[in-house]
Amino acid sequence: MSTNLQTQAFAGNPIRSKTPKSTDPFSPTSALESLKTRLLDNTLHCQPQKHHSSLSSSSSSSPDFKVLPFRKGRPLTYSGPGETAPVWHLGWISLGDCKIFLANSGIELKEEALVYLGSRSADDVVYWAIDVSDGDSLASEFGSKQLCFVELRTVMVATDWADQRAMADLAIAGHARALLEWHNVSRFCGHCGEKTIPKEAGKLKQCSNASCKKRIYPRVDPVVIMLVIDRENDRVLLSRQSRFVPRMWSCIAGFIEPGESLEEAVRRETWEETGIEVGEVVYHTSQPWPVGPNSMPCQLMVGFYAYAKSFEINVDKEELEGT
Ligand SMILES: [Zn+2]
Repeated sequence: MSTNLQTQAFAGNPIRSKTPKSTDPFSPTSALESLKTRLLDNTLHCQPQKHHSSLSSSSSSSPDFKVLPFRKGRPLTYSGPGETAPVWHLGWISLGDCKIFLANSGIELKEEALVYLGSRSADDVVYWAIDVSDGDSLASEFGSKQLCFVELRTVMVATDWADQRAMADLAIAGHARALLEWHNVSRFCGHCGEKTIPKEAGKLKQCSNASCKKRIYPRVDPVVIMLVIDRENDRVLLSRQSRFVPRMWSCIAGFIEPGESLEEAVRRETWEETGIEVGEVVYHTSQPWPVGPNSMPCQLMVGFYAYAKSFEINVDKEELEGT
């Protein structure tokens, strides 16, 4: 049996490689300062003034800003006809247009609403995401421009995984959704209960209580996902849950428990859900998984080959419908 599972969804994000140093105009801190200036500037819809000179490098220029709006976890996307099949791409808008759209919907654009996604100095652009879930009339604002808010899972299914441009967009949208949903579920300090406020352009949050000031970082929830293999009989174990669409089957997966190694989680989850004993566990690859429930937006799927030692299936009917 051979498998070819090299493509990873939601990985390879082209705008979030290495965070620039704080003195760089593309860094979260510097970009946030520029953002504050431009939010006070009524000429937002114009291109920002560039300060190129023969003595200054392009990195000292003021970056342009692009904003990706999200509504209830759904990114703004454009879709239209392509050469052979419909195509989609993310609905980036300028900071100026974003301010106009929000003003038309009666919403004031605030610095706290924007989270830093990354930058691409080659384009002179810093990218932001904004949660506009409160703007009910925004759908019609964007609808006139062939833009609409689409469930990220739907976008994932519609993406041609051989299309590098689309896969890059998917990774950016996944990162943005994970961050925005994390902001939504971390509004209050778990230590003292006071409100939290975004710091470093939304990369973390901090408790607003002066005697607490607890810093809160996005929590990544690791999940093991495994292809259980019967090596001797050249077959694999797949399962399906009752919520799956007909003919959809999946690898076994489950959350890691405290005090457990990844390999132990693979063996425990497989045994609990199917009654199969696993021996050798071999790491395959990993990928972010931002399309889970809103309460756990920053999952990391860690994939394994799991070689079965026993072969009598005993399905946990509370977890699975069949194997
Ligand atoms: Zn606190």
